[in-house]
This record gives sequence, C-alpha cells and structure tokens, in this order.
Amino acid sequence: MKTTKSIIPIAVPSLSGNEKKYVNQALSSTWISSQGEYINKFETLFAKFIQSRYAVSTSNGTSALHLALSALGIGKGDEVIVPDLTFIATINAVTYCGGKPVLADVDKFSLCISPSEIEKLITKKTKAIIPVHLYGNPADMEKILRIAAYNKLFVIEDAAEAHGARVKLDNIWKKVGSLGNLGCFSFFGNKIITTGEGGMVTTDDKKLAEKMKILRDHGQDPDKHYFHPYVGFNYRMTNLQAAIGLAQLERIDALLRFKMNLSSLYKRFLKDIPGITFPELNYEADPVCWLFTMLVDKPFKLNRKELIDKLKKKGVDSRPFFVPLHEQPNYVSKRDFNNAEYLSLHGLNLPSGYNLKENDIKYICGIISQ
Ligand SMILES: *Cc1c(COP(=O)(O)O)cnc(C)c1O
Repeated sequence: MKTTKSIIPIAVPSLSGNEKKYVNQALSSTWISSQGEYINKFETLFAKFIQSRYAVSTSNGTSALHLALSALGIGKGDEVIVPDLTFIATINAVTYCGGKPVLADVDKFSLCISPSEIEKLITKKTKAIIPVHLYGNPADMEKILRIAAYNKLFVIEDAAEAHGARVKLDNIWKKVGSLGNLGCFSFFGNKIITTGEGGMVTTDDKKLAEKMKILRDHGQDPDKHYFHPYVGFNYRMTNLQAAIGLAQLERIDALLRFKMNLSSLYKRFLKDIPGITFPELNYEADPVCWLFTMLVDKPFKLNRKELIDKLKKKGVDSRPFFVPLHEQPNYVSKRDFNNAEYLSLHGLNLPSGYNLKENDIKYICGIISQ
C-alpha cells in the first residue's frame, strides 16, 4: 500500500514560549492545585487583554458558561436565546441551570446569531441572549446589545473561539468578551490560546465577579471556612494551567498574527476557485482566525464529503461545521433553521495549527484546486 504523507492535523498548539519555564516554577513551588501565583497573574493579564475589569478563571470553557449563567441567577423557566449553529456546550450550560434554551437561526454570511431572529423569539420569560462569535467571527453586537437593552436582557458572549476579535461600537474598537454582561472563553488544546483544559469569564461587574469566585469554589463564604451559603461548584483552574495560560497570553498578539497570516494565505490560494467562498461581515468588526473557515458549494466539482475524503487521502485533516442544535437528540426542533442547516452542510474548517508553514498551505490548497 502506498504510504500517505503524515497527517496534517486540524489544530496544533504553540508551546515554545515560557510555558515550560512557568510550569516548572509552579511545580517547584509545590502549588499545583488552585492556589499559587500564576492564577492571579493570568487573570489580571487576561482582563487587561480583553479590556474588562475582572477575569475569573475556570476549569474549562463549559464551566465558564455554566458559572456565568449561574451568577446571573438563570434558573427554572427562564428562556435563554442561543444560536442554532454552535458547539454543544453553549446550549448545555443553559440546561445545567434548568433554563429553557430557545434556538435562533444564524446569519448566512457572518455565521453568527441573527439579530432579527432574536427579536422574533423574545417573550416575557426571556432572560438572556448568548451570542457566539463563531470560528473567530464577531456576532453583530451593536444590534444585539440594542435589542438586549430595549428588552432588559442579559448578554453572555460565548467567545470560546474568538480571543482578541474586535467590534466597533460608538466609534471605539472593543474586544469581544467585554461587550455583554459577561464574556466566556475556552483554553482547550485546539483553541487560539490553551491551558490544556481551561476557561475564563470576563466582566466589568464587581458583584458578578465576586459571586463567580464564590460559586467556582463550592459556594464557600470567602470569610468563613467550610461555610457554604450557595450550592456552588468545583470549577477552579489550577496553578499549572494558569502557568501555561500566562505564557500563552504573553505571546497572544504574535499568535493572532500567525493565524491571520495563515488565513490570508488560504484566501489568496483559494479565492479563484468557483464554489469556494468565505464568511463575510457587513458590520464593523475585526475577526480573528480560530479554524480557517470556508464554504463548499456548486459549481465546485466535489461536494463537501468528497472533498473531506480527498484531503484525508492526502494526509490532510479537515472538519465539517457543527451539527445544528435543532438536530441534536436533546434539542430537537421542527422549526425552520435554513441558514444554520445550509452552513452546517457546506461549511468546512481547514488545518489551522501553529505548526503550519506556507508550503503546507500551498499543498493543502493544491489538493483543493486540482
Ligand atoms: C470550545 C467551546 C466551548 C467549550 O469549551 P471547553 O473548554 O471545551 O469546555 C464552548 N463554546 C464554544 C463555541 C466552543 O467552541
């Protein structure tokens, strides 16, 4: 059998900065659980990066979402509007709280939740909206924030895939995660920066930040040991995770530039292929590249599955878009979600790891254009 070139994976982290040094320092200090110098340093630098007042680290991105919703008091009977096209964790967090997720279709071009769809779904029971900045593309936050303010709804941004992406509001560029009441991030191994597993919630609200710190620590009263006024969780980040996170965050601008360059190379090599298109934002926003994203449709000569198989045969991994939430066994809905359905059938993510060289991108695009 002919041996194929070694697999080019969809994502590979970059750990070539101070990651090892800081982890070794954390080990030497013996503070390897959820106390130690790196937790505070990572949270402080992350808040500064996002330009939010507070940042509360968590064990992962899913616990960040659950913590955020819990701190807002989302509970039984509360409706929370989420986009139909996102990773399952967004909607599961609502379910953990006993809330009722309400699915909204997405915009066909931005891939993100559609503001006009949100408006149609608001009822007396609606408490919050969770816009997701999908694959690094900021949602239309100006419109979403206006709808939320008018209807007195909380906004929890799911920024798990969009560290550093920006939106222009009132003529000022702001980072996603600093726009709603709370912003949630993930540092899973394939995300823009990683701590292995890890998450963060950002906010300008001191009370919410304090409440989240209590809730992530078993609901324990910070002034009284083993006294627990809330049913909390163990959602703390460890000092080891934070050591990696700090080293990652020190280099995030370079990492974001690397991904942007990767994205422009892909676009340059793919732009003239009929049937290959890219997401577009018709509002002022500055996306980041998490996983390079394209759509495959006629007149391209292969359908998406055939393209995935062709790439795989040549050693290139790729990912179809998320399966829409309304098709997930626990969230079945018979309403129409035409855009989410279309995107889910035609969207494809290409390798976007920090190991890639220009020649790798040429190789991948060569397979697509052949
Ligand atoms: C990755 C991701 C999460 C969950 O993060 P974990 O750290 O894997 O728990 C939530 N929402 C979105 C949109 C994600 O991509």
